[in-house]
Amino acid sequence: MLFERAKKILPGGVNSPVRAFSPYPFFVKHALGSKIFDVDGKAYIDYCNAYGAMLFGHAYPKIMEAVKTQLSNGTLYGAPTEQEVAFAELIKQASPCMEMMRLVNTGTEATMHAIRAARGYTGRKKIIKFEGCFHGSHDNVLVKAGSGAATFGTPNSIGIPEETTKNTIVLPYNNIAAIETVLEQEGNEIAAIIVEPILANVGLILPKTNYLATLRKLTNKYGVVLIFDEIITGFRLALGGAQEYFNIKPDMATLGKILGGGFPVAAFGGKAEIMQTISPVGGVYQAGTFSGNPISAIAGYTTINILKQKKNEIYPQLEKNTYELSKALSDLSKNYKLPTQIYNIASLYQIFFTNQPVTNYADAKFSNIKMFNAYFHELLKQGVFIPPSQFEACFISTSHSSEDISCTIEAFDKALAAASKEV
Ligand SMILES: *Cc1c(COP(=O)(O)O)cnc(C)c1O
Repeated sequence: MLFERAKKILPGGVNSPVRAFSPYPFFVKHALGSKIFDVDGKAYIDYCNAYGAMLFGHAYPKIMEAVKTQLSNGTLYGAPTEQEVAFAELIKQASPCMEMMRLVNTGTEATMHAIRAARGYTGRKKIIKFEGCFHGSHDNVLVKAGSGAATFGTPNSIGIPEETTKNTIVLPYNNIAAIETVLEQEGNEIAAIIVEPILANVGLILPKTNYLATLRKLTNKYGVVLIFDEIITGFRLALGGAQEYFNIKPDMATLGKILGGGFPVAAFGGKAEIMQTISPVGGVYQAGTFSGNPISAIAGYTTINILKQKKNEIYPQLEKNTYELSKALSDLSKNYKLPTQIYNIASLYQIFFTNQPVTNYADAKFSNIKMFNAYFHELLKQGVFIPPSQFEACFISTSHSSEDISCTIEAFDKALAAASKEV
């Protein structure tokens, strides 16, 4: 079987741990619009959405056409192009805090270099991150991270020297007092606070009213660079991401996932004076062979351009479908007397199997994983694919039709019935 073959050559049979689930993941043959098809020919309505990257769904024709045109002109030059300049200009229009930016290939690279730039700019060593926030898989931030790190019970990866993470201070999210205490004591040693404006890698957790505004105020006061990691929220909450949705301007932001329309591209950027510290202008080194490559640049440019033109139709429609799914989960949970918390914002939602409101990582950890797994596996059986972990979020794309939504609600009914049989 394919999984057995895969396990011999790829650790766990996968190229990213979040893709593994018990007893074995399905292997994909192809995907189109809202649906993903496995090698056995079974179709799934896809709410994993490549972990939020596919805002338009799979194989979106306009993006495919743009890429095909570029393919015949070459795929990588090692020299700059007009396309990457135009792409960056378009990103800046959507996300004005990014006065200057660098294009990179993955979110991990983006946060790693944003943190380096913030350290270079401030001349300070320490950073603050929050429990359950996931900022990619590099050494500085893989401490109490969400996503796969939460699912597999290794919040602190082995192989990372303590010397590296001792400069990373981890605090609970949604807790202003905790931040104030640290900043009062060592605010002038802290280069940056990096935060997911909403937590979408530990289920879905929303900021308390004024939490983000207070972070903005406190970072200004102590000269700490505020980095919004918008790799999920960018183009998802609004064209301008969480910055636009909550009307807060961070000093730096990172983008990824949706940014490339299904191709690998990410970006980090911010105030010009911070970004001017980057090589060859300044002393902060950052580089990449595939950075700003013409395939990713045209795919990303096309994606953001469509969003810019159609945002007034796209975002309200996504929100409406998401609300419908969340409402159904909430009503059905009551029917089955299940202890659940359901959160949704824009085109993200998640259900937690717990009695208590979930406002941070510690709360999320109370969730009943057996119930979640029963729910997940029944959904899969019914042809609905969600991320295989309680500690992820579900994503709606513009390709989800009203028929997809009603089929999903029927599947929810069966899946919650299955969950209710667990204790
Ligand atoms: C996915 C994600 C990353 C990492 O991006 P990769 O492209 O997987 O390296 C970083 N931060 C957030 C908030 C993410 O959701």
